[in-house]
Amino acid sequence: MVDVARHDIVIVGGGAAGLRAAIAVAEASPDLSVALVSKVYPMRCHTVSAEGGAAAVARADDSFEMHGYDTVKGSDFLADQDVIRYFVEEAPAELNRLEHWGCPWSRNDDGSVATRAFGGMTTKRTWFATDKVGFHMLHTLFQHSMRFDSVVRYDEYFATKLLVDGGVCRGVAALDIRTGEVSAILGRAVILATGGAGRIFPFTTNGMIKTGDGMALAYRAGVPLKDMEFVQYHPTGLPGTGILITEATRGEGGYLKNSEGERFLVERDYGVGTKAELGPRDMISRAIIQEIEAGRAFKGPYGEYLHLDLTHLGEELIDKRLPFVRELGRIYIGVDPVYEPIPIRPVVHYMMGGVDTDIDGATTLPGLYAAGEVACVSLNGANRLGSNSLTECLVFGARAGLVAVEFANGSSAGNEDALRAQADEERAHIDALRGRVKGGEKISQLRREMTSAMEDGCGVYRHQDTLRACVQSLAQLRGRVSDLRLEDASRVFNTELISALELINMIDVAEAVAISALDRKESRGAHTCREYTARDDQNYLYHTLCSFDPAGPRLGKKDVTLGTWEPEERKY
Ligand SMILES: Cc1cc2nc3c(=O)[nH]c(=O)nc-3n(C[C@H](O)[C@H](O)[C@H](O)COP(=O)(O)OP(=O)(O)OC[C@H]3O[C@@H](n4cnc5c(N)ncnc54)[C@H](O)[C@@H]3O)c2cc1C
Repeated sequence: MVDVARHDIVIVGGGAAGLRAAIAVAEASPDLSVALVSKVYPMRCHTVSAEGGAAAVARADDSFEMHGYDTVKGSDFLADQDVIRYFVEEAPAELNRLEHWGCPWSRNDDGSVATRAFGGMTTKRTWFATDKVGFHMLHTLFQHSMRFDSVVRYDEYFATKLLVDGGVCRGVAALDIRTGEVSAILGRAVILATGGAGRIFPFTTNGMIKTGDGMALAYRAGVPLKDMEFVQYHPTGLPGTGILITEATRGEGGYLKNSEGERFLVERDYGVGTKAELGPRDMISRAIIQEIEAGRAFKGPYGEYLHLDLTHLGEELIDKRLPFVRELGRIYIGVDPVYEPIPIRPVVHYMMGGVDTDIDGATTLPGLYAAGEVACVSLNGANRLGSNSLTECLVFGARAGLVAVEFANGSSAGNEDALRAQADEERAHIDALRGRVKGGEKISQLRREMTSAMEDGCGVYRHQDTLRACVQSLAQLRGRVSDLRLEDASRVFNTELISALELINMIDVAEAVAISALDRKESRGAHTCREYTARDDQNYLYHTLCSFDPAGPRLGKKDVTLGTWEPEERKY
């Protein structure tokens, strides 16, 4: 029988959202025990790699109304407006709180918090700590979380299944990567904060660990995934590696140029108006693809690319505001941005969709909450504005933590025997997968086929025929993944086993993305169909829901919460 660990709240994920939720629980109810489960040591979460900044109203020329309007417009009117209002109002307090916990925000000469411009935002409202924002935010949250004895960490534990008793989520089965043992980590409520799923694509800014595990866990437990068709391409990734060059480069005044040396966003009409390089990400990614298609790109060993030119900004500003960009350019591509333009192309960056939650982070499964990139609380709609995500992790991580406390206080612990039996079953399943030499399929092969299907079907521009082919390939892969062949039967740090579990999760998530995309026959935000080029509010102003079914994903709809901002044509 598996070991059972008992806590009150189980949080899966130690990034910005998971840590903020843990702190919220610990502060509100010091007597509640919190399990913080993470498949990597918390400082290695993807949050650490965030570069550009976190948005919140800070200046006298700004307002909640303006931040809200920019966000709803950026979302192409698919975001829920009650969520946006709550978000913009809570955001400044969250970032100030982080400062009190030690986050070294960069300052203006008069000592006030410095803010920089970001895409789709009408004024400077992105707080930053040079261009290593995620690193500083995560350090601050992690160190603050260590003040609370009630937070018990399970580092390098991989959650593989949600444990549900009597229709209520009561914990997770988790594999201790160090020993290979599976145990049941139980609580009276569970919060998923497992981050995004960029790794379902071949070319992404996302770390290797972003495999959509939490989305797959919730999905298989019957919770719908929402708005999965909306995948954000960041305009500026390094060709080859996909390493991100932050939007802060453009916030600080950088230019995008084609092979003819033109600032094409200024010279041609790509819908971004005078915002030029500071237009929203979906529009700029489309503009870059169009420039490439028009033959105005450079050709290199990793395909075609354009230029991000910072040379006019000068060494002093680059070293002060963008030191990490200089480091990345020099180390990974041999380009010093002080003297030469940086080669860039659009790269998969962020999932607007995720586990369907309400404004509290509550899912349709009682006792299960989700926050951060794994969740779709509906702040970002069809296109997220850069720098809203880190703040979202704080605002909705905290809210999910507090609501989970309320739920746990009014809820029993569940039937331990029944929950343990489910974890036993999960252990048997994992034991059968480990070193499964009788299988016929290779992890690397299926993974390659999955990522290339996604690249072909779910790119910046989508065609109905390639999307259909993508959906078919993924349905086949879902069948083939049950015949995996694994060579390594050892228990200690069996990374092959982890790759297999991640692949199984990614195929489910990828299928949800492709099927949702095929169903939306319009162009909105990051979802652009070649055949259906206009936004169609008449027929498609709703959230897509995708639910698990052994026979294949099932689609449904959910209303968008509108409010004072009437849907209008999205022009900049
Ligand atoms: C390169 C880069 C730069 C970015 N820059 C910015 C920026 O400047 N501003 C901005 O607003 N946003 C930015 N973003 C987006 C933002 O950083 C992320 O959306 C955000 O950090 C996600 O945080 P999270 O807490 O939801 O998840 P993550 O930080 O990804 O953490 C996920 C956690 O879940 C755990 N986990 C996952 N699966 C399992 C499992 N099966 N079992 C146990 N644990 C699991 C992981 O170990 C980890 O602890 C950037 C993203 C990238 C990739």
